[in-house]
Amino acid sequence: MRTTIETRLGIGLVMIAFLSGLAVGQMPGQPPVYLKCGWLLDGKSDQPRKDVIIAVEGEKIREVGGAPASGQMADLSRETCLPGLIDTHTHILLQGDITAADYDEQLLKQSPEYRTILATVNARRALEYGFTTIRDLETEGAGYADVDVKKAILNGVIPGPRMQVATRAMDVTGAYPLQGYAPNVPVPHGVQVVDGVEDGRKAVREQISHGADWIKVYSDRSYFVRPDGVLDDIPTFTLDELKAIVDEAHRERHKVASHAMALHGVHNSVEAGVDSIEHGNYITDEDLKTMQSRGIFYVPTIFVGDYVARGRANAGSPVWLQMVQIHEDTFRRAMKAGVKIAFGTDAGGFDWKVDPAKEFGYMVKWGMTPAQAIRAATASAAELLGMQDKVGTIEPGKLADIVAVPGDPLKDVSLLEQVDFVMKGGVVYKKP
Ligand SMILES: [Zn+2]
Repeated sequence: MRTTIETRLGIGLVMIAFLSGLAVGQMPGQPPVYLKCGWLLDGKSDQPRKDVIIAVEGEKIREVGGAPASGQMADLSRETCLPGLIDTHTHILLQGDITAADYDEQLLKQSPEYRTILATVNARRALEYGFTTIRDLETEGAGYADVDVKKAILNGVIPGPRMQVATRAMDVTGAYPLQGYAPNVPVPHGVQVVDGVEDGRKAVREQISHGADWIKVYSDRSYFVRPDGVLDDIPTFTLDELKAIVDEAHRERHKVASHAMALHGVHNSVEAGVDSIEHGNYITDEDLKTMQSRGIFYVPTIFVGDYVARGRANAGSPVWLQMVQIHEDTFRRAMKAGVKIAFGTDAGGFDWKVDPAKEFGYMVKWGMTPAQAIRAATASAAELLGMQDKVGTIEPGKLADIVAVPGDPLKDVSLLEQVDFVMKGGVVYKKP
């Protein structure tokens, strides 16, 4: 953690100013705020531009590259400015679950209220890491608490990223933790348990009515590597069930994210027409082709796989170590096939004290250029969220979600773990 007491204080002061409406650039009619960037990666071009001034008025970008008039100037001349980062797979209600015991402990011993308090801290952490927008993919047993965190951020009660939320997610009976307790002991579940086509439609309606932006399904479980190297699974939903859920969500103009790590889970999800494949450790070439042609996004979440592998292997599941290698091969094939890839980390699956921007290094290690990895976390991620008119690039008219790093992230992508300036909607939350 790079957050010192000093910067915390600074952020606190900015927040106080923000809450009392005093932050410059926040009120309409105020003079613009200028950001003097040493370099600018605008998210449209992969070529950085030198010495660019960004004019921010209210919550939006007014001009990129003009000369400053009167107004406040933030000196970022030693920094590279880029669009606010977007993490399309997070769990702010979770504090890391390397093993089943970690997970069970949170659901059994922490009330949803306590978990929500922790989530507000995670939301703040996400913003301080430079993630100005997140798609939070289910609360893991904390009900609709993500809707409330989103609301508190929107209302300016707490600092945090823009959020799209999935609420409870769905899986079938017997497939999702908590598992393994005596049949006569009622235990909470990390998802809404859904069986059958009609139940699926009903759950979609229920979750949307309570504030879900996305519907999340768990499409497979129980992974094993076949002798021919294919990562196999037990599919959870039948294809009919998945199709009904996707149809109902789409009918209500909402998108579906599918946790699918292996052969059948991915294939069924693609057939059912989901909008994003989460994790996708193994995907056949045929399914990659379908994903490419239908514009289904791939959210690979690489870092978390490596992070949990050893712990889970030690707890008796060595398959998680093999899955990392299979994942790399799939990622490289997906790139070759031209599948749209969006940055997502599964933060919360690992401790929020770890900067999710570690994912960038993994994407580059597995074959992306730093520019491609940054695009996955900006313009491409914005497209997955249907927010490409508002965020993901730095251009006039878009929301002023701008971060900066001390150096050139195209030379050293790990600099994205050192975001030291964060502006969201024209409000500064962190300064170098
Ligand atoms: Zn997840």
